[in-house]
Amino acid sequence: MLGRIPDDAAKRISERAWRELARRLSGRLLRPGDPRFVDVARPHNLRYAKVLPAGIARCRSSNEVAQAILWCREHDVPLAARSGGHSYAGFSTTRGLMIDVGAMNATRFNAAEETITIDGGARNGDLYKALPATGMTITHGRCPTVGAAGFLLGGGIGFNMRALGVGCDQLVATDIVTADGNLQTVNAHDDLFWACCGGGGGNFGINTSFTVRTFPTAPVTVFRMAWNVNSEEVFAALMRALDAAPSGLGARVSLGAPRQRDEKRDVPVRLLGQLKGSARELADILAPVPPGSSTEIFEKSYWDGQAFLEEPGPPEYFQERSTFLTGTLDSNALATAFDWLRRWPGTSVGADLRFFQTGGKINERAADATAYVHRNNRWLMLIGLGWEACDPPDLLRQNRAWQDGFYQAMLPYGTGGAYQNFADPSLNDWGHAYYGANFERLRRVKAAVDRKMLFQFAQAIPPAE
Ligand SMILES: Cc1cc2nc3c(=O)[nH]c(=O)nc-3n(C[C@H](O)[C@H](O)[C@H](O)COP(=O)(O)OP(=O)(O)OC[C@H]3O[C@@H](n4cnc5c(N)ncnc54)[C@H](O)[C@@H]3O)c2cc1C
Repeated sequence: MLGRIPDDAAKRISERAWRELARRLSGRLLRPGDPRFVDVARPHNLRYAKVLPAGIARCRSSNEVAQAILWCREHDVPLAARSGGHSYAGFSTTRGLMIDVGAMNATRFNAAEETITIDGGARNGDLYKALPATGMTITHGRCPTVGAAGFLLGGGIGFNMRALGVGCDQLVATDIVTADGNLQTVNAHDDLFWACCGGGGGNFGINTSFTVRTFPTAPVTVFRMAWNVNSEEVFAALMRALDAAPSGLGARVSLGAPRQRDEKRDVPVRLLGQLKGSARELADILAPVPPGSSTEIFEKSYWDGQAFLEEPGPPEYFQERSTFLTGTLDSNALATAFDWLRRWPGTSVGADLRFFQTGGKINERAADATAYVHRNNRWLMLIGLGWEACDPPDLLRQNRAWQDGFYQAMLPYGTGGAYQNFADPSLNDWGHAYYGANFERLRRVKAAVDRKMLFQFAQAIPPAE
């Protein structure tokens, strides 16, 4: 790869150079041995927890971010930006300098413009605190510790997306410090802004703030339901019913891999979601679906509804493999899916086939309107696999082979795309899977702002020749 800095380059750095960086950051530099170092360095996906940086720059301003970037350039040190640390593939870990913007977590609401400006290190949880008083919302996720930066830069899916678009569709402007250390504010007139709308975190610079359009909240009906028998019949009816629902409905369905390998064993079906509407309207939507074994349905104010849906989660070991579907699965695809689920080798954690309902407003934009290219689909499907450190390596290998086999078996039913925010280290042609026909334009933007690939990781967009 062009301009690649060796992974162990930071080992050559003199203590004097580190002291110089600490001075530029008013002391907010963590080095190994500091009692806070390991906690700050730890990514959400524990698979990557052993990749420890040589230092962590805990920046509080765009200027400090620029200083940290320039220092990396001066000393040939690899870098990675860190906000919420939730990259599926550990892309915010590095053996060089981690530039952590987590302390930059303020938000500012502009009532006249109906926008909120979110600093580059704010997390979902900061938005949950700031937005309720405004009566407005955006498309957001459910995990309070996911960073707004990674979320918005890679698209951003959530239960509002069918009504409002993906998160990056609401972006109005962003401040970004590029490889030359310059801070730019970019908006709809700029190629770099286009690239920031779905082109993936960590590719073009370090974004230090995002200004996002907001929308009035309305009461919601939130629901969580489970079915433990007749899974094939239930799932087919459920997908048809949801597919016909208005875009005010946001839903996630999961089919759990049964714990014991048994071809006859039933696959638990789980549904979670929200409807902008009443419980009565939800009942009408779900009328064709057989009754579940457990059903929770509540009419709530918007933010009480989000508290019900919120899913905090501690760091874990996992891999997910995703693709998009243009419709519900046909009977062949369903048979294939249930067959693979029943053959799960088992881990201490779990595995599932998950579906996020897309479509609606997301599909109203052209595929090249933003870097987020996935505009022609109705579902995002993924095969999830979690495990524990204590699971034996052989069992883990069997599980990964199972996940890959399952993924290959389901690929013919998908678009060939993959969601860039569910970064999948096993993808070969990740550039086209994540970015489709937008990949070449993204490479041109990369060439314009970072030809030497200071911003580099396993699936970093390479510059156009
Ligand atoms: C438990 C969990 C729940 C999730 N829920 C959702 C969901 O509901 N919807 C959804 O769309 N996605 C979801 N995701 C995926 C999530 O959006 C992505 O993993 C996202 O990249 C995480 O962003 P982060 O800032 O937390 O992660 P980080 O690991 O800090 O960063 C992710 C990438 O962005 C880069 N980056 C970080 N900060 C910046 C910055 N300020 N400027 C430029 N680049 C930066 C990093 O270098 C890295 O490449 C979830 C992930 C997890 C683990």
